[in-house]
Amino acid sequence: MHGAMFVEGMQDAEADWYESARKVVGAKCLMSASYDLHGNISKRIIDTLDMMSAFRTAPHIDREETMSRACDMLVKCIQGNIRTTLMWASIPVLMPGERSSTEWNPGKRLWSQLPEMNKTAGVLDVSMLVGYVWADEPRGAASVVVTGTNPASEEKIAKNLAQQYWDARREFDFGTEVCSLDACIQKAMASKTSPVVLADSGDNPTGGGNGDQATVLEALLKAGAKGVVFGGIADRPAVEACYQAGVGKTIPLSIGATLDPYASKPVKVQATVKSLLEIADPAKREAAVQIQGITLILSAYRRPYHEIVDFTKMGIDPKSAKILVVKSGYLEPQIKAIANPNLMALTDGSINQDIVHLPTNKYRKPTFPFVDDLTFTPTVYTSARSHS
Ligand SMILES: [Zn+2]
Repeated sequence: MHGAMFVEGMQDAEADWYESARKVVGAKCLMSASYDLHGNISKRIIDTLDMMSAFRTAPHIDREETMSRACDMLVKCIQGNIRTTLMWASIPVLMPGERSSTEWNPGKRLWSQLPEMNKTAGVLDVSMLVGYVWADEPRGAASVVVTGTNPASEEKIAKNLAQQYWDARREFDFGTEVCSLDACIQKAMASKTSPVVLADSGDNPTGGGNGDQATVLEALLKAGAKGVVFGGIADRPAVEACYQAGVGKTIPLSIGATLDPYASKPVKVQATVKSLLEIADPAKREAAVQIQGITLILSAYRRPYHEIVDFTKMGIDPKSAKILVVKSGYLEPQIKAIANPNLMALTDGSINQDIVHLPTNKYRKPTFPFVDDLTFTPTVYTSARSHS
């Protein structure tokens, strides 16, 4: 489970899912979940599960380890006929992932303690979650969740970590240089090193962005940027037009705003088709086009361009670009490795980083930084199933 699922009209979609599953499997069945660390937790979720384990890295490079932990403790408990106690400490702090990566402090310091704490007798798993700030719902908050068989040890760990997280709340910050879109483009064009990786943070599809916005493309064209590789914009009609025209043809294209026509505006351009991905399924097609100094990949579906192969399979070498644009917040490992340097543009979109000024702030409980002067003392909630 990710933990950031948001369904309009439903404030806790994952709890609904778990409760439905619980009805099917019955009260005796043990349920374990593996999580992204950007998940929101609620009392309903805790009361339905027996155990959980969340990623300890952002960018997420421990998917397999997390799933293994979640499965291993489930197997261990089934084989040993062990009933767990699931404990949860909610922390009234909501940070975007771009401020709470585990690659720099305070995230690095906070999450690096978890493996050692996990070795405590009677503790099966220690998880700490950032939460998901862009879903406007009451359960939005950071969390510590501990699974184990020794409630006293679990409670101590949960309170300790929750207090540390709270104490670090003003320390969370971007781990890279951030600037307005225009300032980032000027810096990238003037850079003596390359490729400058320019991250379109507001429209990052892996963070919840539409992935269909052409705002950065428009600004690059206006600035006359050259040597740009852009991966990519989701636009199925534009992709289909490229396949119909064929490689080498120049065609008029409207790019962007096909998934959400209300969130942004399309850009009208003349584009030359450079390459087409050979794939049978029209829903999975991708086309590379040249628009003045910009090589842009268009995809028929919403997807990230976080790996080198996402470019090379289209015949494009991202390392040779002067400016490499990706729809991303913090960079994933392969793109980060070639960034020279990395600039994060604070662009508009579904995951605008300017969180305190978000228009939809109706349902969140008081959390930092939406409320600056909160007081907090960690308390630990023990799941209903632990008593049954
Ligand atoms: Zn995540």
